[in-house]
Amino acid sequence: MKVARFSYEGEIGFGILDRAENGDGVEIVELLGDPMASGFDTTGRRIAFGDVRLLAPVIPRSKIVCVGKNYLDHVEEMKDVTGGGAVNVPAEPLLFLKPNTSIIGPGETIVRPAISDRVEHEGELAVVIGAVAKQVPVERALEVVFGFTCANDVSARDLQIKDGQWSRAKGFDTFCPLGPVIETDLDIADAKIETRVNGEVRQQSSTAHLIHSIASIVSYASEAFTLLPGDVILTGTPAGVGLLEAGETVEVEVDGIGILRNTVA
Ligand code: MG
Repeated sequence: MKVARFSYEGEIGFGILDRAENGDGVEIVELLGDPMASGFDTTGRRIAFGDVRLLAPVIPRSKIVCVGKNYLDHVEEMKDVTGGGAVNVPAEPLLFLKPNTSIIGPGETIVRPAISDRVEHEGELAVVIGAVAKQVPVERALEVVFGFTCANDVSARDLQIKDGQWSRAKGFDTFCPLGPVIETDLDIADAKIETRVNGEVRQQSSTAHLIHSIASIVSYASEAFTLLPGDVILTGTPAGVGLLEAGETVEVEVDGIGILRNTVA
């Protein structure tokens, strides 16, 4: 099931994508509230998909938890950038946070800050949490997951290196595009992920190559933080990170979810 957050006639709502009743195209079945908090009761209204504007499918109330260095080929490519010359595979998930003010939706613009000369894309699979979760064991971790969406962990690489930690470099406004929708039934064992810039493939991998699994990441994060419905976890990026220049279009696609497309300014 695909869940969208959208604006329509000046109002913001959530809905489920469905085949149009006349068989032609897609409609949104409008929900009464936020399904991460209040379930799937509907208003009964159906809106043509083409008439809404999709928004970031969730704005977490508390946090975006991110995992660094979670694909081996990316750890290798970062050896001389943030690895101090070594290929150090984290024995445990390496966590950091992005502020919720960094989120933008599909179609919105990533704004490169004037103080960075090296803004880069990181296409990632994002996990959306659906329950209050604290100290969840790995075996039960997927029970607190609401669904999955595409994310771009946009990073000012020069500031990341300069600061020695990552909050500022990865926390600028517009540095966390999310969307286009949340898929609640994704096959996460081998979900194909691809990042393209102006149509050129930059990153291509699969969640089969995650060093730390989605269940172990959720469990590990819940050991430190109480996870709340609507919180988002970015699971790490594969090799191929690279520059974003003004005027370019960046796409993150996860099979089964869709394409998250943003322009760069
Ligand atoms: Mg990342």
